[in-house]
Amino acid sequence: MGKYKVVMSGKTWPNAYEKLAEHCDIQMWEGEGKIPQETLRDWLRDADGFFNIGHITVDEELLEAAPNLRVISQSGVGYDSVDVEACTKKGVPFSNTPGVLVEATADLTFGLLLSAARRIHEGYEKVKQGNWETVFGVDLFGKTLGIVGMGDIGSAVARRAKASGMNIVYHNRSRKHEAEKELDAVYLSFEELLHTADCIVCLVPLSNESKGMFGEEEFKAMKSSAYFVNAARGGLVNTEALYEALKNEEIAYAALDVTDPEPLPADHKLLQLSNVLVTPHIGSATYETRNRMADLAVQNLLLGLEKKPLVTCVNEEVNYK
Ligand code: NAP
Repeated sequence: MGKYKVVMSGKTWPNAYEKLAEHCDIQMWEGEGKIPQETLRDWLRDADGFFNIGHITVDEELLEAAPNLRVISQSGVGYDSVDVEACTKKGVPFSNTPGVLVEATADLTFGLLLSAARRIHEGYEKVKQGNWETVFGVDLFGKTLGIVGMGDIGSAVARRAKASGMNIVYHNRSRKHEAEKELDAVYLSFEELLHTADCIVCLVPLSNESKGMFGEEEFKAMKSSAYFVNAARGGLVNTEALYEALKNEEIAYAALDVTDPEPLPADHKLLQLSNVLVTPHIGSATYETRNRMADLAVQNLLLGLEKKPLVTCVNEEVNYK
């Protein structure tokens, strides 16, 4: 394998970096915040590979600026910031890292629900203030969990919820018969699910179709005792509508790992409410999982540079044969 030039839009784990550095000359963004698109375009002019770290926008303009690109490899599963159609048109295979982050993200998602239901974080804050008082929450046992987006992560959340004695209902655009068998999950229309579920977890990929799918009408349709968890993408939720629903107690509580805007400014009005819990997009953020993601991303990158089939290619039609 000759030396290829690879651009990295952020840092990765030492093992993954060393493996890449054996075969490639690396240009890596180490600056504050996201790499500016202009800098990225400039760096990609003579690059063979792009290691997309940190939800960087990949559009036609960027691809035009990178005539030698053989592969784009992303560490992460959601690819709403990538124009996959444009990659395909340019014949550039694009890969993400599905599978390896499922259990970690499901743990965080169910953890958010549990923390919200039992006010774990609120209890700890009180203890730190010397206030040893009972903080009341609600049972999850016997309640109905509505999963919107019963894919890899949704199913893993459903398994955790079932083990905790919850009933499962779900909504996808198409039915998922294995989940119905394995988890006694009941398929409902989106509207039925909103009315029926005690707790609702959103794990739908962000797309033009799903953007803002939780808005004023949807929050009004939920039970006033509903717990809402978003662990997918902030853009699925209309933040203003969620704020109003929480403020007016149209729903009971929201726990969010993703927000719009993201990062959520510390003085954002959502954070003034007492019935909201927010974590900084840490669904897959465990040492083991992030290492596995980086390893898989590097594997895809090295295969693509050699024009060999990527393991987890999103646009299979242009994957190398
Ligand atoms: P997945 O296996 O592709 O599952 C997505 C599910 O959503 C599918 O079952 C799909 O079924 C359903 N779906 C898609 N569009 C829909 C729509 N418009 N309405 C209703 N259901 C829809 O994906 P995954 O691996 O579980 O990941 C899901 C999302 O989680 C990712 O796209 C990513 O944005 C997010 N994520 C977040 C973190 C984090 O750190 N918080 C970590 C990993 C992933 P149908 O096609 O039948 O509709």
